[in-house]
Parts: sequence; C-alpha cells; structure tokens
Amino acid sequence: RNRLCSQTLQLQRSLRNGYHLRSVSTTKLFLDGKFVESKTDEWIDLHNPATNEVITRVPVSTRAEMQAAVDSSAEAFKSWSQTTVLTRQQIMFRFADLVRKNLKDIAANITLEQGKTLVDAEGDISLVDKSAGTVRSIDQKEVCEHACSITSLCLGETLPNVAKDMDIHSYREPLGVTAGITPFNFPAMIPLWMFPLATVCGNTMVIKPSERDPGATMMLCELANEAGFPAGVVNVFHGATDAVNFVCDDPTIKAISFVGSDTAGQHIYERGAMAGKRVQSNMGAKNHGVIMPDANKEATLNSLVGAAFGAAGQRCMALSTVVFVGESKKWIPEIIERAQKLTVTAGHEPGADIGPLISPQAKQRVLDLVESGVKQGADLLLDGRDIVVPGYEKGNFVGPTLLSNVKPNMDCYTEEIFGPVLVAMEVDTLDEAIQLINNNRYGNGTAIFTTNGATARKFTQQIHVGQVGVNVPIPVPLPMFSFTGSRGSFRGDLNFYGKAGVQFYTQLKTVTQLWREEDTSSTKATVAMPV
Ligand code: NAD
Repeated sequence: RNRLCSQTLQLQRSLRNGYHLRSVSTTKLFLDGKFVESKTDEWIDLHNPATNEVITRVPVSTRAEMQAAVDSSAEAFKSWSQTTVLTRQQIMFRFADLVRKNLKDIAANITLEQGKTLVDAEGDISLVDKSAGTVRSIDQKEVCEHACSITSLCLGETLPNVAKDMDIHSYREPLGVTAGITPFNFPAMIPLWMFPLATVCGNTMVIKPSERDPGATMMLCELANEAGFPAGVVNVFHGATDAVNFVCDDPTIKAISFVGSDTAGQHIYERGAMAGKRVQSNMGAKNHGVIMPDANKEATLNSLVGAAFGAAGQRCMALSTVVFVGESKKWIPEIIERAQKLTVTAGHEPGADIGPLISPQAKQRVLDLVESGVKQGADLLLDGRDIVVPGYEKGNFVGPTLLSNVKPNMDCYTEEIFGPVLVAMEVDTLDEAIQLINNNRYGNGTAIFTTNGATARKFTQQIHVGQVGVNVPIPVPLPMFSFTGSRGSFRGDLNFYGKAGVQFYTQLKTVTQLWREEDTSSTKATVAMPV
C-alpha cells in the first residue's frame, strides 16, 4: 500500500536523517475518488514545526475545484443514500480495520506536519495509556467502530393504533451533502469525528481540513477508497477563510460540522445558519483542574502535569488551569519538579514528551501571554520561553511554564493560551472553586481530584461545564456518549458523535398512515380538525 503516502514516509525518513529536501511535494485534492493536483496559483507553505523546513505546499483551492467537490458529493448522494444500511456498515467495518492497520503511518505523518510526539500522534487515532490514567484520549478508531452500530443507532420508532386503523412510525433520513471543517491540533481525530458518522448515515461529505496539516485527512481518504467508499462520498478541498465561506454559503451543503477557534466557530455558526444550514460548532476552552487537599497526591500530580503539558498544551481538553483548594497549593514545587523532567524535542525523537508548537506565530502568542501574566503580577515559577532544543534550533519549542498567583482578570487567564503553560490559582473552599469555574466563559472540560465522594458529587452537580472528570484529567467521553462541551465552547444543539451525532446527520421523518379494509366514510367531507 502507501501509493500516496509513500511520499510522506520518504519525506519523514529524509528529515529524520537530516537530509535537506531537494524538492517540495504538493498536497493533492481528493475529488471524486481521485487524488488530483490543484490548478490554483495560490499555495500555502506547510512547515515541519520542529525545523520550520517547508515540507509540502497546500493549494488554496479554486472556486471551480470547490464546486467540483460539492457537485461530486451531490451526485454520489443520489446512489449512496439508497445503498442498504448493511452495505454502508460493511464498508465502515473495513475502514475501521484499515485505520487500525495503518495507525503508525498516519501517526508519522501527524508528527511530521503537526509536531506532536509519535505516541501522542497514535493517540490522535487510537487510545493511549488507558490504564495509567495520566492521559485519557478517546479512541478515534472507535468512532468508526461506533459508526458500525448504525443499524441500531438509526432505528426509528413506531406506535400502532394511534386511531382506528392508523399507525405512526418515524425514521431517520440522511440530509444530503454535509461539510466538515477541521482544526490543526487533532488532524486525524477530528475528521474521524465527522465523516464516518455522516457517511454511514447515508450522507456524503466535503472536508476542508486545516491548511496547516491536511496530510492525515488525505491518508484517511486513501483508506476510504480502499475500504470501498464509492467515489464522491467523501471529497476534500483545501484553503482557509475563502474556502470556509464557500462552505457556509453553498446552497447544496445542508449541514456543517466545525471544530476550531472561537473566531472561526462563531463566524461559521452564524453564516451557516443564515444560509439555512444545520451547524455544530466546537470551539475554544479553558479547562480547570481542582485539587482538593485530600486528593491522592502522586496520581493527581502525574495526571495534572500530563494533561497540562502533553501535546505542548495544544489540546482543547488540556488542563491548562489548576485551582488549588486550601493546603494543596503546597504541592506546586513537586509539580515543577515533574514538569522539569519532561523532554522537549522533535516529536519523532525517542523519549520526546513535548513537541513544538504549530508555528512561530503560535509560539509568539504564547510568549506574549506569559509576558502579560508577569506584567500583570503573576509569579513565573517555571519559565520555558528560552528553551533551545539541540538539533532543532529553528523549531517552535516552548518548555513547560508555570504561572502562579494568577487572578481572574489577567489575560493569561481570560485567553486560551494553547501552549505548555499551566496557570495556577488559589482558593480557600470548594464553593469558591466552583464559582470561579462557573464564571469562566468556557464550558469544555473540567476535573476534580479528591478522595471524598461527597465533594466529588457536589462538584459534578454544581459545575456548569459539559464534560467533568472525577480523578480523570481529560474526561473526553467515549464514542457511545457524545462530546458535550457547553457554554462558550459550543454552539449548536446536537453534539459530536454518539447518539447526538447521528441525530445531527439525519432528519426525522414521521409517517402517519391509515389502512382500512372497508371504506366506512360518509359522502360528506369533514372540515373540522380531526380528533
Ligand atoms: P482555527 O479556527 O484557526 O482553524 C480551524 C478551521 O477554521 C481551519 O480549517 C481554518 O482554515 C478555518 N479558519 C481559521 N480562521 C478562520 C476564519 N477567520 N474564518 C473562517 N475560517 C477560519 O483553529 P485552530 O487554530 O486550527 O485550532 C485550535 C482551536 O481549536 C483552539 O481554540 C482549540 O480549543 C479548538 N479546538 C476545539 C475542540 C473542541 O472540541 N472544542 C477540539 C479541537 C480544537
């Protein structure tokens, strides 16, 4: 295999061996089941975040190419929506199997384009470290496997004899052409939240992956071909804001799944809704970890450090704010000790714990927010800003950083930092911790660490955050549930994956039918509302 991907793998090997690239490849479009070169004259250079070397050029798709993708998906919908649900299920079984078999290749591409460590990149696709509890990552392949349950998930309802000889039944129908717009930080996970479930429901999908790391999406498309997805069921074009606006405005596209930043998410939610589309929009976050003094210290500190600094803090569920309740603040030095043991280097290097940030701009933004914290009175107890990684001096690295004594009005608290920076706050009581979190605009995730069941229960009951962990730092729900970020972290009505995901990608149709053996009607029509 690896017809398309051999290019990426050779690239990976060359970079690992320190060779310089003689020529830079281009990322293709995926149109009507084929990988094709864009005819655009506008390209986005994609850099390896560990070296800032250009590794591929991503096309800004022309309007004609985007239209071709939508037309292909619209044409494919005619027959795909009529395939039996068992056919779609069988294709999905094969696809899930292929994703599992190709996990390492996809992970290598993610490390190359996105920068995260190879272990973490595998977690982008499949579950990592289930037992240790330090990092809880959803098994994305399981979203495909969950999609294989479509025969149960898509069942309708029936109620016979609602009136004499009259029955009602409802069923779920696909919407038509749907669209997925994805962020850079989980280049496999987020597309896998979207197109398996959309397509197994009978829809087709056009995907606009992040222009910063579209390689994993392209590899997944190659596997979709191999699994037997008919041409046009999935199409991919590339670009940035213009491509997104095209998706929002195009009248053929019926629904948009978006994951990314607040600015883009709110814009897409509003512009898509204005065009009459269904939109689900997962956005930014500021996740708090509450440490009670009675917490199991070693396990809690390991969890916290892993969840704050893992993936260089570029996870929407990163535990980026720690709230010490009472005496637990005494553990700060031990958090620093653990953070200092983490190895910061290129993601493919053995033993790497923290890779680079996605771009020099992202790095600068993190540095600026740390600096603003210092200026606004926070204590910089661990400073990873000046880190130099031998062999990767040009990479976008920031080492683990800890700001303590942070107050709610500081920029480092009000903004999502999206870097390996832990912001520490102190309160006296659990009530104060709950109030602090409920006053924050985001509602993606939170966690409490305690050995007291009543404390945990009070927290889970009173907290206004959609995903809550009790001694679980990154409480991302498994795919039989849904990803239920709330408040400022989500716009829409139906969440990603799980039952809500199926509801998002389908329209309920309800049929009321009357079948009577003998016509007993009189010759006069009744005009009153039937009762
Ligand atoms: P981003 O918003 O910059 O990019 C996401 C997508 O939107 C990309 O495809 C991009 O091309 C497009 N886009 C970017 N700016 C746009 C604009 N102004 N108008 C229209 N489209 C635009 O996000 P990112 O930096 O790639 O990802 C990081 C963000 O995503 C963080 O805020 C993170 O919290 C969030 N995120 C949220 C979740 C979640 O489930 N809540 C999951 C992952 C990431």
